[in-house]
Amino acid sequence: MQKDLALFNEIAQELLADEVKNPVVRPIPIEELFDTLDLSLPEEATKDEDFIAALKGLVLNTPRTTTKHFFNQLFGGRNSRAMLGELLSALLNNSMYTYKVGGPMIGMEKLIINKLRDMVGYGEEAGGTLATGGSMTNFMAMLMGRDAFDKGIKGKGVSQTMTLYTSSESHYSIPKNATFMGVGRDNVRFVRTNERGEMLVEDLEAKIQEDITNGFIPFFVNATASTTVLGAFDPISEIGDICHKYKLWFHVDGAFGGSVLFTDKYRHLLKGVEKTDSFSINAHKMLGTPLACSVILAKDKKHLYHTFSNKASYLFQMHEEDFNPGKISLQCGRRNDALKFWTLWKSVGTNGLGRIVEHQFHLADMARDYIRNHPDYTLYSFDDSVCICFNYKGIPADELCNRLYDEAALMVGFGNFRGVQFIRLVTINYGNQTEDIIGFFETLEEFAEIHF
Ligand SMILES: *Cc1c(COP(=O)(O)O)cnc(C)c1O
Repeated sequence: MQKDLALFNEIAQELLADEVKNPVVRPIPIEELFDTLDLSLPEEATKDEDFIAALKGLVLNTPRTTTKHFFNQLFGGRNSRAMLGELLSALLNNSMYTYKVGGPMIGMEKLIINKLRDMVGYGEEAGGTLATGGSMTNFMAMLMGRDAFDKGIKGKGVSQTMTLYTSSESHYSIPKNATFMGVGRDNVRFVRTNERGEMLVEDLEAKIQEDITNGFIPFFVNATASTTVLGAFDPISEIGDICHKYKLWFHVDGAFGGSVLFTDKYRHLLKGVEKTDSFSINAHKMLGTPLACSVILAKDKKHLYHTFSNKASYLFQMHEEDFNPGKISLQCGRRNDALKFWTLWKSVGTNGLGRIVEHQFHLADMARDYIRNHPDYTLYSFDDSVCICFNYKGIPADELCNRLYDEAALMVGFGNFRGVQFIRLVTINYGNQTEDIIGFFETLEEFAEIHF
Protein backbone atom coordinates (compact mmCIF):
# COMPACT_ATOMS: atom_id res chain seq x y z
CA MET A 1 0.00 0.00 0.00
CA GLN A 2 2.79 2.44 0.91
CA LYS A 3 4.31 1.91 -2.51
CA ASP A 4 1.06 2.64 -4.31
CA LEU A 5 0.39 5.70 -2.16
CA ALA A 6 3.80 6.99 -3.17
CA LEU A 7 2.94 6.18 -6.77
CA PHE A 8 -0.33 8.04 -6.40
CA ASN A 9 1.57 11.09 -5.20
CA GLU A 10 4.03 10.81 -8.04
CA ILE A 11 1.27 10.61 -10.67
CA ALA A 12 -0.69 13.41 -8.98
CA GLN A 13 2.35 15.72 -9.00
CA GLU A 14 3.02 14.98 -12.65
CA LEU A 15 -0.61 15.62 -13.55
CA LEU A 16 -0.84 18.87 -11.58
CA ALA A 17 2.35 20.18 -13.19
CA ASP A 18 1.18 19.20 -16.67
CA GLU A 19 -2.27 20.70 -16.12
CA VAL A 20 -0.67 24.12 -15.68
CA LYS A 21 1.28 23.79 -18.92
CA ASN A 22 -1.44 22.04 -20.89
CA PRO A 23 -4.88 22.84 -19.49
CA VAL A 24 -6.51 21.04 -22.42
CA VAL A 25 -5.09 17.67 -23.56
CA ARG A 26 -4.89 17.03 -27.25
CA PRO A 27 -7.61 14.43 -27.83
CA ILE A 28 -6.58 11.03 -29.18
CA PRO A 29 -8.74 10.21 -32.23
CA ILE A 30 -10.81 7.14 -31.38
CA GLU A 31 -9.42 5.14 -34.32
CA GLU A 32 -5.89 5.61 -32.91
CA LEU A 33 -6.77 5.09 -29.23
CA PHE A 34 -5.86 1.43 -28.78
CA ASP A 35 -2.62 1.81 -30.75
CA THR A 36 -1.55 4.95 -28.89
CA LEU A 37 -2.09 3.81 -25.31
CA ASP A 38 -1.42 0.43 -23.73
CA LEU A 39 -4.91 -0.39 -22.48
CA SER A 40 -4.67 -4.16 -23.07
CA LEU A 41 -5.61 -6.63 -20.34
CA PRO A 42 -2.95 -9.35 -20.22
CA GLU A 43 -3.22 -13.01 -19.20
CA GLU A 44 -0.27 -12.67 -16.82
CA ALA A 45 0.85 -10.02 -14.36
CA THR A 46 2.37 -6.83 -15.73
CA LYS A 47 5.88 -5.78 -14.71
CA ASP A 48 5.86 -2.73 -12.42
CA GLU A 49 7.54 -0.37 -14.87
CA ASP A 50 5.16 -1.32 -17.69
CA PHE A 51 2.19 -1.00 -15.38
CA ILE A 52 3.29 2.47 -14.26
CA ALA A 53 3.95 3.60 -17.82
CA ALA A 54 0.54 2.35 -18.99
CA LEU A 55 -1.24 3.98 -16.05
CA LYS A 56 0.52 7.32 -16.53
CA GLY A 57 -0.27 7.26 -20.23
CA LEU A 58 -3.92 6.74 -19.45
CA VAL A 59 -4.11 9.42 -16.76
CA LEU A 60 -2.14 12.08 -18.62
CA ASN A 61 -4.22 11.69 -21.78
CA THR A 62 -7.58 11.97 -20.05
CA PRO A 63 -9.59 15.19 -20.60
CA ARG A 64 -8.88 17.75 -17.85
CA THR A 65 -12.09 18.82 -16.24
CA THR A 66 -10.57 20.78 -13.39
CA THR A 67 -8.44 23.33 -15.24
CA LYS A 68 -9.14 26.95 -16.10
CA HIS A 69 -9.94 26.00 -19.70
CA PHE A 70 -12.78 23.59 -18.98
CA PHE A 71 -16.22 25.18 -19.43
CA ASN A 72 -17.90 22.22 -21.07
CA GLN A 73 -20.26 20.92 -18.42
CA LEU A 74 -22.00 21.88 -15.22
CA PHE A 75 -19.03 21.01 -13.03
CA GLY A 76 -15.44 22.16 -12.89
CA GLY A 77 -12.52 23.12 -10.72
CA ARG A 78 -10.86 21.16 -7.96
CA ASN A 79 -11.32 21.94 -4.30
CA SER A 80 -8.52 20.23 -2.39
CA ARG A 81 -10.48 19.79 0.86
CA ALA A 82 -13.37 18.17 -0.99
CA MET A 83 -10.87 16.01 -2.87
CA LEU A 84 -9.36 14.92 0.44
CA GLY A 85 -12.77 13.72 1.59
CA GLU A 86 -13.25 11.82 -1.66
CA LEU A 87 -9.88 10.09 -1.34
CA LEU A 88 -10.60 9.09 2.24
CA SER A 89 -14.00 7.66 1.26
CA ALA A 90 -12.16 5.38 -1.16
CA LEU A 91 -9.50 4.49 1.40
CA LEU A 92 -12.02 3.58 4.10
CA ASN A 93 -14.45 1.90 1.68
CA ASN A 94 -17.49 1.88 3.94
CA SER A 95 -20.96 1.22 2.68
CA MET A 96 -23.51 3.72 3.90
CA TYR A 97 -26.39 1.38 4.75
CA THR A 98 -26.00 0.63 8.43
CA TYR A 99 -24.48 2.20 11.50
CA LYS A 100 -22.69 -1.08 12.05
CA VAL A 101 -20.72 -0.64 8.80
CA GLY A 102 -20.74 3.16 8.37
CA GLY A 103 -20.29 4.17 12.03
CA PRO A 104 -19.81 7.90 12.57
CA MET A 105 -20.02 8.49 8.82
CA ILE A 106 -23.76 7.85 9.13
CA GLY A 107 -24.02 10.64 11.72
CA MET A 108 -21.92 12.96 9.54
CA GLU A 109 -24.22 12.32 6.57
CA LYS A 110 -27.28 12.83 8.75
CA LEU A 111 -26.06 16.28 9.81
CA ILE A 112 -25.66 17.32 6.16
CA ILE A 113 -29.24 16.18 5.51
CA ASN A 114 -30.54 18.03 8.57
CA LYS A 115 -28.73 21.27 7.67
CA LEU A 116 -30.11 21.18 4.14
CA ARG A 117 -33.58 20.32 5.47
CA ASP A 118 -33.50 23.43 7.67
CA MET A 119 -32.26 25.62 4.83
CA VAL A 120 -35.07 24.44 2.54
CA GLY A 121 -37.55 25.19 5.30
CA TYR A 122 -38.80 21.66 5.94
CA GLY A 123 -39.64 20.57 9.49
CA GLU A 124 -38.32 17.83 11.78
CA GLU A 125 -40.29 15.12 10.01
CA ALA A 126 -38.26 15.62 6.83
CA GLY A 127 -35.61 13.15 5.75
CA GLY A 128 -33.15 12.58 2.98
CA THR A 129 -30.36 10.52 1.52
CA LEU A 130 -27.79 10.55 -1.25
CA ALA A 131 -27.84 8.73 -4.57
CA THR A 132 -25.44 8.40 -7.49
CA GLY A 133 -26.45 11.67 -9.19
CA GLY A 134 -29.18 14.14 -10.01
CA SER A 135 -30.88 11.80 -12.45
CA MET A 136 -31.26 9.24 -9.68
CA THR A 137 -32.36 11.71 -7.00
CA ASN A 138 -35.01 12.95 -9.46
CA PHE A 139 -35.98 9.31 -9.97
CA MET A 140 -36.40 8.84 -6.22
CA ALA A 141 -38.65 11.92 -6.06
CA MET A 142 -40.77 10.65 -8.94
CA LEU A 143 -41.13 7.22 -7.33
CA MET A 144 -42.20 8.78 -4.04
CA GLY A 145 -44.73 10.92 -5.90
CA ARG A 146 -46.11 7.86 -7.68
CA ASP A 147 -46.45 5.85 -4.48
CA ALA A 148 -47.88 8.76 -2.50
CA PHE A 149 -50.63 9.01 -5.07
CA ASP A 150 -51.52 5.31 -4.72
CA LYS A 151 -49.97 3.23 -1.97
CA GLY A 152 -50.99 0.05 -3.79
CA ILE A 153 -48.77 0.62 -6.82
CA LYS A 154 -45.84 -0.91 -4.96
CA GLY A 155 -47.67 -4.21 -5.04
CA LYS A 156 -49.86 -4.26 -8.11
CA GLY A 157 -47.96 -1.97 -10.45
CA VAL A 158 -49.25 1.01 -12.42
CA SER A 159 -52.66 0.33 -13.94
CA GLN A 160 -53.96 3.84 -14.67
CA THR A 161 -52.70 6.48 -17.08
CA MET A 162 -50.82 8.80 -14.74
CA THR A 163 -49.47 12.08 -16.08
CA LEU A 164 -46.62 14.27 -14.91
CA TYR A 165 -45.53 17.79 -15.77
CA THR A 166 -42.15 19.38 -16.36
CA SER A 167 -41.00 22.26 -18.54
CA SER A 168 -39.72 21.81 -22.07
CA GLU A 169 -36.35 23.08 -20.79
CA SER A 170 -36.05 20.58 -17.94
CA HIS A 171 -33.47 17.82 -17.66
CA TYR A 172 -33.84 14.69 -19.79
CA SER A 173 -33.81 12.49 -16.71
CA ILE A 174 -37.49 13.35 -16.14
CA PRO A 175 -38.87 11.58 -19.27
CA LYS A 176 -36.20 8.89 -18.97
CA ASN A 177 -37.23 8.13 -15.40
CA ALA A 178 -40.90 8.11 -16.44
CA THR A 179 -40.13 5.04 -18.54
CA PHE A 180 -38.36 3.26 -15.66
CA MET A 181 -41.23 3.83 -13.23
CA GLY A 182 -43.99 2.37 -15.37
CA VAL A 183 -45.65 5.72 -16.06
CA GLY A 184 -44.29 5.97 -19.59
CA ARG A 185 -42.62 8.86 -21.35
CA ASP A 186 -45.70 9.52 -23.48
CA ASN A 187 -47.41 10.63 -20.29
CA VAL A 188 -44.90 13.36 -19.58
CA ARG A 189 -46.38 16.76 -20.42
CA PHE A 190 -43.82 19.34 -21.45
CA VAL A 191 -45.03 22.69 -20.22
CA ARG A 192 -44.16 25.71 -22.35
CA THR A 193 -41.73 28.34 -21.12
CA ASN A 194 -41.46 32.11 -21.49
CA GLU A 195 -38.68 33.76 -23.51
CA ARG A 196 -36.32 33.33 -20.56
CA GLY A 197 -36.90 29.56 -20.43
CA GLU A 198 -39.02 29.66 -17.24
CA MET A 199 -42.10 27.46 -16.93
CA LEU A 200 -45.38 29.17 -17.84
CA VAL A 201 -47.71 28.54 -14.93
CA GLU A 202 -50.84 29.20 -17.06
CA ASP A 203 -49.78 26.48 -19.47
CA LEU A 204 -49.13 24.10 -16.56
CA GLU A 205 -52.64 24.57 -15.23
CA ALA A 206 -54.18 24.32 -18.71
CA LYS A 207 -52.40 21.02 -19.32
CA ILE A 208 -53.48 19.63 -15.94
CA GLN A 209 -57.12 20.57 -16.60
CA GLU A 210 -57.04 19.10 -20.09
CA ASP A 211 -55.70 15.80 -18.75
CA ILE A 212 -58.36 15.67 -16.04
CA THR A 213 -61.05 16.30 -18.67
CA ASN A 214 -59.63 13.46 -20.75
CA GLY A 215 -59.69 11.03 -17.83
CA PHE A 216 -55.96 10.97 -17.14
CA ILE A 217 -54.57 11.17 -13.63
CA PRO A 218 -52.13 14.02 -12.94
CA PHE A 219 -49.87 13.16 -9.99
CA PHE A 220 -46.50 14.95 -10.18
CA VAL A 221 -44.94 18.28 -11.14
CA ASN A 222 -41.23 18.92 -11.52
CA ALA A 223 -39.90 22.47 -11.39
CA THR A 224 -36.30 23.15 -12.30
CA ALA A 225 -34.02 25.42 -10.28
CA SER A 226 -31.58 26.40 -13.02
CA THR A 227 -32.27 24.65 -16.28
CA THR A 228 -29.42 22.85 -17.94
CA VAL A 229 -28.96 25.14 -20.96
CA LEU A 230 -30.09 28.67 -20.05
CA GLY A 231 -29.88 28.40 -16.28
CA ALA A 232 -33.50 29.49 -15.82
CA PHE A 233 -35.32 29.18 -12.48
CA ASP A 234 -38.98 28.14 -12.72
CA PRO A 235 -41.43 30.18 -10.56
CA ILE A 236 -41.48 27.75 -7.65
CA SER A 237 -43.95 29.52 -5.41
CA GLU A 238 -46.66 29.83 -8.09
CA ILE A 239 -46.14 26.25 -9.24
CA GLY A 240 -46.43 25.19 -5.61
CA ASP A 241 -49.87 26.79 -5.38
CA ILE A 242 -51.05 24.88 -8.46
CA CYS A 243 -49.75 21.61 -6.99
CA HIS A 244 -51.58 22.34 -3.76
CA LYS A 245 -54.81 23.11 -5.62
CA TYR A 246 -54.74 19.85 -7.60
CA LYS A 247 -53.05 17.77 -4.85
CA LEU A 248 -50.00 16.87 -6.89
CA TRP A 249 -46.55 15.88 -5.65
CA PHE A 250 -44.24 18.85 -6.10
CA HIS A 251 -40.55 18.27 -6.70
CA VAL A 252 -37.84 20.83 -7.36
CA ASP A 253 -34.89 19.60 -9.39
CA GLY A 254 -32.12 21.72 -7.89
CA ALA A 255 -29.32 19.55 -9.28
CA PHE A 256 -27.73 22.58 -10.89
CA GLY A 257 -29.03 25.72 -9.14
CA GLY A 258 -30.22 24.36 -5.80
CA SER A 259 -26.95 25.60 -4.31
CA VAL A 260 -28.30 29.16 -4.22
CA LEU A 261 -29.75 27.96 -0.92
CA PHE A 262 -26.40 28.96 0.52
CA THR A 263 -26.44 32.61 -0.49
CA ASP A 264 -28.65 35.41 0.82
CA LYS A 265 -28.09 37.26 -2.42
CA TYR A 266 -29.58 34.59 -4.71
CA ARG A 267 -31.76 32.57 -2.33
CA HIS A 268 -34.80 34.47 -3.69
CA LEU A 269 -34.50 32.38 -6.88
CA LEU A 270 -35.86 29.47 -4.80
CA LYS A 271 -38.71 31.45 -3.27
CA GLY A 272 -41.45 29.06 -2.18
CA VAL A 273 -39.20 25.99 -2.07
CA GLU A 274 -40.69 25.11 1.33
CA LYS A 275 -43.94 24.32 -0.51
CA THR A 276 -42.33 21.32 -2.21
CA ASP A 277 -42.69 17.67 -1.25
CA SER A 278 -39.15 16.90 -2.34
CA PHE A 279 -36.01 18.73 -3.36
CA SER A 280 -32.77 17.54 -4.94
CA ILE A 281 -29.37 19.20 -5.10
CA ASN A 282 -25.99 18.24 -6.57
CA ALA A 283 -23.03 19.39 -4.50
CA HIS A 284 -20.79 18.32 -7.39
CA LYS A 285 -22.05 21.16 -9.57
CA MET A 286 -21.98 24.70 -8.11
CA LEU A 287 -20.44 23.75 -4.77
CA GLY A 288 -17.57 22.03 -6.55
CA THR A 289 -17.16 18.67 -4.80
CA PRO A 290 -15.88 15.81 -6.97
CA LEU A 291 -18.50 13.74 -8.80
CA ALA A 292 -20.88 12.56 -7.56
CA CYS A 293 -22.61 14.13 -4.59
CA SER A 294 -26.36 14.30 -4.95
CA VAL A 295 -28.88 14.73 -2.16
CA ILE A 296 -32.63 14.08 -2.15
CA LEU A 297 -34.79 15.52 0.60
CA ALA A 298 -38.42 14.64 1.31
CA LYS A 299 -40.63 16.92 3.36
CA ASP A 300 -42.01 13.87 5.14
CA LYS A 301 -39.61 10.97 5.51
CA LYS A 302 -42.46 8.47 5.67
CA HIS A 303 -42.47 8.63 1.86
CA LEU A 304 -38.82 7.60 1.72
CA TYR A 305 -39.64 4.62 3.94
CA HIS A 306 -42.79 3.70 2.05
CA THR A 307 -41.13 3.66 -1.36
CA PHE A 308 -37.63 2.40 -0.61
CA SER A 309 -37.61 0.22 2.48
CA ASN A 310 -37.33 -3.47 2.06
CA LYS A 311 -36.84 -6.20 4.62
CA ALA A 312 -33.34 -7.67 4.59
CA SER A 313 -32.55 -9.71 7.66
CA TYR A 314 -29.00 -10.37 6.51
CA LEU A 315 -28.35 -6.61 6.45
CA PHE A 316 -30.41 -4.70 8.99
CA GLN A 317 -29.52 -6.45 12.23
CA MET A 318 -28.77 -3.68 14.74
CA HIS A 319 -29.48 -0.10 15.77
CA GLU A 320 -32.49 2.11 15.25
CA GLU A 321 -34.01 2.74 11.83
CA ASP A 322 -32.81 6.33 11.69
CA PHE A 323 -29.19 5.24 11.73
CA ASN A 324 -29.65 2.53 9.11
CA PRO A 325 -30.10 4.69 5.98
CA GLY A 326 -30.03 1.61 3.78
CA LYS A 327 -33.77 1.49 4.52
CA ILE A 328 -34.42 4.62 2.46
CA SER A 329 -31.93 4.00 -0.32
CA LEU A 330 -32.36 3.27 -4.01
CA GLN A 331 -29.31 1.05 -3.74
CA CYS A 332 -28.02 -1.67 -1.44
CA GLY A 333 -24.31 -0.89 -1.17
CA ARG A 334 -23.82 2.86 -1.27
CA ARG A 335 -20.49 4.66 -1.37
CA ASN A 336 -19.73 7.47 1.02
CA ASP A 337 -20.44 10.50 -1.16
CA ALA A 338 -21.21 12.65 1.87
CA LEU A 339 -17.66 12.87 3.23
CA LYS A 340 -16.35 15.16 0.46
CA PHE A 341 -19.30 17.49 1.07
CA TRP A 342 -18.56 17.45 4.80
CA THR A 343 -14.81 18.12 4.41
CA LEU A 344 -15.63 21.07 2.15
CA TRP A 345 -18.43 22.44 4.36
CA LYS A 346 -16.43 21.95 7.57
CA SER A 347 -13.43 23.79 6.16
CA VAL A 348 -15.15 26.83 4.60
CA GLY A 349 -18.34 27.03 6.66
CA THR A 350 -21.84 27.69 5.42
CA ASN A 351 -20.89 31.26 4.52
CA GLY A 352 -17.89 30.00 2.58
CA LEU A 353 -20.20 27.81 0.50
CA GLY A 354 -22.28 30.91 -0.14
CA ARG A 355 -19.21 32.78 -1.34
CA ILE A 356 -18.37 29.93 -3.72
CA VAL A 357 -21.81 30.27 -5.31
CA GLU A 358 -21.75 34.07 -5.39
CA HIS A 359 -18.35 34.11 -7.04
CA GLN A 360 -19.73 32.04 -9.94
CA PHE A 361 -22.56 34.52 -10.45
CA HIS A 362 -19.99 37.32 -10.31
CA LEU A 363 -17.93 35.65 -13.06
CA ALA A 364 -21.11 35.21 -15.09
CA ASP A 365 -21.91 38.93 -14.72
CA MET A 366 -18.39 39.73 -15.97
CA ALA A 367 -18.86 37.45 -18.95
CA ARG A 368 -22.21 39.01 -19.86
CA ASP A 369 -20.67 42.49 -19.56
CA TYR A 370 -17.86 41.46 -21.88
CA ILE A 371 -20.34 40.17 -24.47
CA ARG A 372 -22.57 43.24 -24.23
CA ASN A 373 -19.53 45.49 -24.76
CA HIS A 374 -18.28 43.60 -27.81
CA PRO A 375 -20.48 43.95 -30.90
CA ASP A 376 -19.14 40.76 -32.54
CA TYR A 377 -21.09 38.75 -29.94
CA THR A 378 -24.79 37.98 -29.64
CA LEU A 379 -26.11 37.13 -26.16
CA TYR A 380 -29.02 34.71 -25.73
CA SER A 381 -29.13 34.08 -21.97
CA PHE A 382 -30.19 36.19 -19.01
CA ASP A 383 -29.03 37.54 -15.66
CA ASP A 384 -29.12 35.38 -12.49
CA SER A 385 -27.61 32.45 -14.35
CA VAL A 386 -24.10 30.99 -14.54
CA CYS A 387 -24.75 29.86 -18.13
CA ILE A 388 -23.75 32.43 -20.71
CA CYS A 389 -25.13 31.55 -24.12
CA PHE A 390 -23.78 33.43 -27.12
CA ASN A 391 -22.59 33.32 -30.70
CA TYR A 392 -19.48 34.98 -32.09
CA LYS A 393 -19.41 36.60 -35.53
CA GLY A 394 -22.20 34.28 -36.65
CA ILE A 395 -19.85 31.27 -36.67
CA PRO A 396 -21.90 28.06 -36.20
CA ALA A 397 -21.54 27.17 -32.52
CA ASP A 398 -21.10 23.43 -33.07
CA GLU A 399 -18.27 23.92 -35.58
CA LEU A 400 -16.47 26.38 -33.34
CA CYS A 401 -16.77 24.22 -30.21
CA ASN A 402 -15.70 21.04 -31.98
CA ARG A 403 -12.70 22.76 -33.53
CA LEU A 404 -11.67 24.25 -30.18
CA TYR A 405 -11.69 20.72 -28.80
CA ASP A 406 -9.81 19.12 -31.70
CA GLU A 407 -7.08 21.75 -31.48
CA ALA A 408 -6.88 21.50 -27.66
CA ALA A 409 -7.65 25.18 -27.20
CA LEU A 410 -10.74 25.20 -24.95
CA MET A 411 -13.39 22.79 -23.72
CA VAL A 412 -16.78 24.42 -24.17
CA GLY A 413 -20.09 23.09 -25.47
CA PHE A 414 -23.14 24.32 -27.32
CA GLY A 415 -26.86 24.30 -26.66
CA ASN A 416 -30.20 25.20 -28.20
CA PHE A 417 -33.21 27.25 -27.26
CA ARG A 418 -36.20 27.82 -29.52
CA GLY A 419 -34.35 26.62 -32.57
CA VAL A 420 -31.26 28.79 -32.10
CA GLN A 421 -27.93 27.14 -31.48
CA PHE A 422 -25.28 28.89 -29.40
CA ILE A 423 -22.13 28.37 -27.36
CA ARG A 424 -22.78 27.79 -23.67
CA LEU A 425 -20.08 29.07 -21.35
CA VAL A 426 -20.58 27.91 -17.75
CA THR A 427 -18.75 29.88 -15.06
CA ILE A 428 -18.97 27.08 -12.54
CA ASN A 429 -15.26 26.76 -11.73
CA TYR A 430 -14.84 28.59 -8.42
CA GLY A 431 -11.07 28.69 -8.99
CA ASN A 432 -11.45 30.97 -12.00
CA GLN A 433 -10.96 34.73 -11.73
CA THR A 434 -12.16 37.59 -13.93
CA GLU A 435 -8.97 37.42 -16.01
CA ASP A 436 -9.63 33.73 -16.75
CA ILE A 437 -13.04 34.61 -18.16
CA ILE A 438 -11.55 37.44 -20.25
CA GLY A 439 -8.86 34.92 -21.26
CA PHE A 440 -11.59 32.57 -22.46
CA PHE A 441 -12.98 35.19 -24.83
CA GLU A 442 -9.55 36.26 -26.06
CA THR A 443 -8.55 32.65 -26.76
CA LEU A 444 -11.79 32.12 -28.64
CA GLU A 445 -11.34 35.30 -30.69
CA GLU A 446 -7.74 34.50 -31.66
CA PHE A 447 -8.77 30.97 -32.53
CA ALA A 448 -11.66 32.13 -34.70
CA GLU A 449 -9.33 34.55 -36.47
CA ILE A 450 -7.01 31.71 -37.47
CA HIS A 451 -9.48 28.91 -38.17
CA PHE A 452 -12.61 30.60 -39.54
C1 LIG B 1 -27.04 17.86 -14.11
C2 LIG B 1 -28.49 17.91 -13.96
C3 LIG B 1 -29.22 16.75 -13.64
C4 LIG B 1 -28.59 15.39 -13.62
O1 LIG B 1 -27.65 15.23 -12.63
P1 LIG B 1 -26.56 14.06 -12.77
O2 LIG B 1 -25.85 14.11 -11.46
O3 LIG B 1 -25.69 14.45 -13.92
O4 LIG B 1 -27.30 12.79 -13.03
C5 LIG B 1 -30.57 16.87 -13.41
N1 LIG B 1 -31.19 18.05 -13.51
C6 LIG B 1 -30.53 19.18 -13.84
C7 LIG B 1 -31.28 20.47 -13.93
C8 LIG B 1 -29.17 19.15 -14.08
O5 LIG B 1 -28.51 20.26 -14.42
